[in-house]
Amino acid sequence: MSKPDITPPPLRNDCFALPAGVSWTPVDEALALLRDRLRPVTGVETTPLTQAAGRVLAEDVIAQRSNPPQPNTAVDGYGFAGGRPEGAHVLPLAQGRAAAGLPFDGAVPAGQALRVLTGAALPDGVDTVILEEDVTVQDGHIAFRGPLKQGANTRRAGEDVAQGDQALAEGRRLTPADLALLSAVGIADVPVRAPLRVAVLSTGDELVEPGETAGAGQIYDANRPMLLSLIDRMGFQSVDMGRVADDRAALHARLDAAADQADVILTSGGASAGDEDHVSALLREAGAMQQWRIALKPGRPLALGMWNGSPVFGLPGNPVAAMVCTLIFARPALGLMAGEGWQEPQGFDLPAAFEKRKKPGRREYLRARVRDGRAEVFRSEGSGRISGLSWAEGLVEIGDGERHIKPGDPVRFIPYGSFGL
Ligand code: AMP
Ligand code: MG
Repeated sequence: MSKPDITPPPLRNDCFALPAGVSWTPVDEALALLRDRLRPVTGVETTPLTQAAGRVLAEDVIAQRSNPPQPNTAVDGYGFAGGRPEGAHVLPLAQGRAAAGLPFDGAVPAGQALRVLTGAALPDGVDTVILEEDVTVQDGHIAFRGPLKQGANTRRAGEDVAQGDQALAEGRRLTPADLALLSAVGIADVPVRAPLRVAVLSTGDELVEPGETAGAGQIYDANRPMLLSLIDRMGFQSVDMGRVADDRAALHARLDAAADQADVILTSGGASAGDEDHVSALLREAGAMQQWRIALKPGRPLALGMWNGSPVFGLPGNPVAAMVCTLIFARPALGLMAGEGWQEPQGFDLPAAFEKRKKPGRREYLRARVRDGRAEVFRSEGSGRISGLSWAEGLVEIGDGERHIKPGDPVRFIPYGSFGL
């Protein structure tokens, strides 16, 4: 049989141009919009301090007590009043001692010294301490060499935090160190936000569950395990809404359930404008959809919409793009909704261990890690390369403009940890 004589269409002049009327949204513009439109959606509750790590403060916390609460000694040694000039000094020892939790009862007479142990409240008549290693003790006296400044080796009351000061501000996601601070200033119960519940849903006829047999044309759902754990690591509460086929009615019902059970919904797949892109189609039908063509690589498309009052982030199906969009867009947006305020990921400049030419127009995020103080990038930028996500320990961010990076040039590295992972 002879082949029909069909001429393929000629390359269009504008084959690299954007479709008419469509413009690319720069990353910063998209972020500014999210920051502007979203607000905290979670309620307020009280939790015991010991359970408060990772929770978001719902109010400023005021110190109920100073740290330290009273002047005390920073070292084991001998306390007395006043500094001493250069030269040898001998002081008689007063009877007794002061230890942490066991204050000295009474005043130390002028010209005498008292044995004091680290953390002990300074008794009346003591404002200066000499380190025990610098002292000879003999016949009820101590001898040491000056000079010694008045106040040496002591801690002032409230020198760290004064009663009535703000210890921590609203929006703080509490760290282990914060729990030490709050406990020290007399806080036992902490006003926190209820955790932000984030529903995670995968879409696609091709997806099967890990553990199932995957037939021809099927792939395992890689996004859901990743997204659920990203959500939990970032300090939100994941809600697993499973996997839905490319079926509009089924997806509709699942979005209803997700909006019931969570404050915000993350879907992956089906976010473009194709025949099987039901997430964007449904959001468009609901009349509350923004399809964003963000000037970002990897990352297109990102669909944003509202479903029964819950914001929906329609992430790309591609796992690399899904993760990058989650870190760059969803994470600060979710933080804002969770009451943390808008958190910029902290990056730092490092010399590149690679060469790359980049065209202007899109911001790029490369899978990267740091070795020997230089930023390495994954050998392939292919957006289907999940192994590169796993290899990486962070992202290299390359600005929107044109750039030719040569080995040794500074590049911005954002460790995964900066996203709260
Ligand atoms: P889509 O955005 O639905 O057109 O999907 C884009 C690409 O990502 C396709 O190759 C999908 O098979 C793939 N994909 C979509 N969802 C997932 C998922 N949950 N896990 C792994 N790959 C996915
Ligand atoms: Mg799909």
